[in-house]
Amino acid sequence: MAVHAHPDDESSKGAATMARYVDEGAEVLVITCTGGERGSVLNPKLQGRKDVEDNISEIRRAEMERAREILGVQQHWLGFVDSGLPEGDPPPPLPAGCFALVPLEEAVEALVREVRAFRPHVMTTYDEFGGYPHPDHIRCHEISVAAFEAAADPDRFPDAGDPWQPLKLYYDVGFSRERTTALHEALLAKGLESPFEEWFKRRDEHERKQGERRAPNITTRVDVADWFGRRDAALLAHETQVDPDGWFFKTSHDLLREVWPTEDFELARSLVDSTLPEDDLFAGIREQVNA
Ligand SMILES: [Zn+2]
Repeated sequence: MAVHAHPDDESSKGAATMARYVDEGAEVLVITCTGGERGSVLNPKLQGRKDVEDNISEIRRAEMERAREILGVQQHWLGFVDSGLPEGDPPPPLPAGCFALVPLEEAVEALVREVRAFRPHVMTTYDEFGGYPHPDHIRCHEISVAAFEAAADPDRFPDAGDPWQPLKLYYDVGFSRERTTALHEALLAKGLESPFEEWFKRRDEHERKQGERRAPNITTRVDVADWFGRRDAALLAHETQVDPDGWFFKTSHDLLREVWPTEDFELARSLVDSTLPEDDLFAGIREQVNA
């Protein structure tokens, strides 16, 4: 089960990993906490179009449906409303009723209900910094950790289904400074242009605002070199949310295969034994389930 804040997050964070596990026979469920109603249109070709802006919720649902099909995953909406990314100094207050303002227990119960129904062995979410400082991403982290801890407790949320204990919880570490630096340097070494200058600037800016974050502890690298095509196709299906000529797509799959063929994760909670570093999110579980 991969818990994400907005439609499109599942395609930019860990998507190749999900596609690989689907191909290998795993059942994968994406939980999308919000409808992405307050996301800006980021594709220059669609910016300023009133028909797009007026129908953004429906359009994003249709985009999610296409991405879901491409990745081969199941997907459920948790049904909360996008908080938007507050911009300005000081930032404006969050809009009433948005996901980040819903009482925590209410949002945790909604996710616990999904966990108890789907009964995942592994859950993924973002780290405590949200991966990036969007209030919905931070909230997504909070409810995922809380649901992982509450789902097996029959006294918590007794009306939300039969208890179930997921065995591992991971944080997505897709965009580590380490990875971006390696790709940046490899591009420059080949005399190619690097699209990552802007990425470093943005990350520095986030860290100025959020305070320096701890370096992610990458425990698990999943080889997904054969699944970058599926990941790109899924992300491009979120047509309003990505610039098809943007930095994300500027690194060739050959270079990724050579320099960084994995998607990376941090093991945050585990109830099984596995040897670190791992190359499989199900390490320690396959043995147990097959026993
Ligand atoms: Zn997001």
